[in-house]
Amino acid sequence: MTPVTSMILKIGIFPRVNIRRGGPVTGRRARRKPGRFSAPLRSSPALRPRSPQQAARPSAWASATPHPGRQFPAMQPIPGRGVRPRFLALAIAFFALSFSAFAQSGDSPNGLQQGVGRPEDSSLPGAPGESSPLPESPSQAPGPAEQGLSLDDAMKAIGPDPAFRWDPFFRTGNISLSGHHASFSAAYPGEQAPVIFDSREILSLPAPWLENGLLRFPESFVAGIKRAFDDSILSEQFRYRIAAIVVDPGHGGRDPGAQGTHTINGKTLTLSEKDITLKSSLSLYSRLSAAYPDKRVLLTRDRDVYPTLEERTLLANSVPLKDNEAILYVSIHANASLNRNARGYEVWYLSPDYRRDLIDKEKFQDSAEIIPIVNDMLQEEFTNESIMIAQAINRRIGEAMGRSLPARGLKAEEWFVVRNVRMPSVLVELGFVTNPADAEILNSEESLKKLTEAIYKGITDFVTSFESSGGFIFNQ
Ligand SMILES: [Zn+2]
Repeated sequence: MTPVTSMILKIGIFPRVNIRRGGPVTGRRARRKPGRFSAPLRSSPALRPRSPQQAARPSAWASATPHPGRQFPAMQPIPGRGVRPRFLALAIAFFALSFSAFAQSGDSPNGLQQGVGRPEDSSLPGAPGESSPLPESPSQAPGPAEQGLSLDDAMKAIGPDPAFRWDPFFRTGNISLSGHHASFSAAYPGEQAPVIFDSREILSLPAPWLENGLLRFPESFVAGIKRAFDDSILSEQFRYRIAAIVVDPGHGGRDPGAQGTHTINGKTLTLSEKDITLKSSLSLYSRLSAAYPDKRVLLTRDRDVYPTLEERTLLANSVPLKDNEAILYVSIHANASLNRNARGYEVWYLSPDYRRDLIDKEKFQDSAEIIPIVNDMLQEEFTNESIMIAQAINRRIGEAMGRSLPARGLKAEEWFVVRNVRMPSVLVELGFVTNPADAEILNSEESLKKLTEAIYKGITDFVTSFESSGGFIFNQ
């Protein structure tokens, strides 16, 4: 990428940076860190934290409402607000930094070599004997209380082997570590200046300054940059993805599930829940497998057999997952009632009241006192995610089936199928085999396919919003 396109891209991205304070984002996860103008998109969802320390990282268990494809509110441009003075100031700073990227493509006008490389490069202003082509900060300027760190010490403090670039003409620098970049400009000692982090976040930090041709870095600048790098690298480790989806056709084999006998098109036939759930699950399985070749899609049964409930949950729990991976469990059932008028679909999620023993206690041997806390946090997160999938499926079935199949709403319950499963889980009741109208839908290949397609879309809605947000739960 040429510096010019890089500049254009950066400028193009800039309006996405929110500089408002107290925006519409709520919830602990969306809290801003002091000294930052923008709510960073990145955050580490601690669904399955690796350690107590990580588990204790702030995060929000916001009341969850799925909204697939929706932008995280803090990252939306501010409509109709005009250009604010602070925005203008930041934009100017940004342009200066962008132009510096442009200037880095060639030798500087005075022939000084560009500072690209490790801090120990003799061409860098932190090295002895270097001079800046621009006037240095006047020595009579109000001096900072601190001496500041040398370039070498600052880089050592920021992280293992950061790359450093310096543009002596514009007096701007760039620090790169593990694929993340912080662009800063030198200013007078004691001045604050914006630091552009990863082209999308602006940190306001005390600026580095030049002293006898050497860069000096305020300790709070170094600490701020280090925190931004650490946070980014950590949140990547925790960036969530759905690694597996378990599709569970209810009942099977000796257990037919619910049954209803009807006369459809002049023929009397008995519908068994186990057959309907298998048909629907097989087509859901093939849709999901095709859509997600990078995920494991599993069936608890693929024919007319009866895995016990324990076997189903064991299968789901045996899927190996990395710490940043989640698994979804979708159980398909059909309903029955003594009241033949009862009809419609239902989507169930795990009750918020239910408390599971989710934490592997051996991992937390040394910190027994935090186990209940982390357990509660996980429970809340799992429940929220279960609610989100349930809502997405519920909405999609409603869209697809319209009035032909009434919605009975979301339900919460503790059912055995998922209570031992360490994953967000939902159960879909497709309709009532005991109701003539529902039975006609469930018996029709076409209608059942439509119903299943809606479940598929609900799952993909959730997966997309979950993964694009890195595991965020959005507030509505
Ligand atoms: Zn059932």
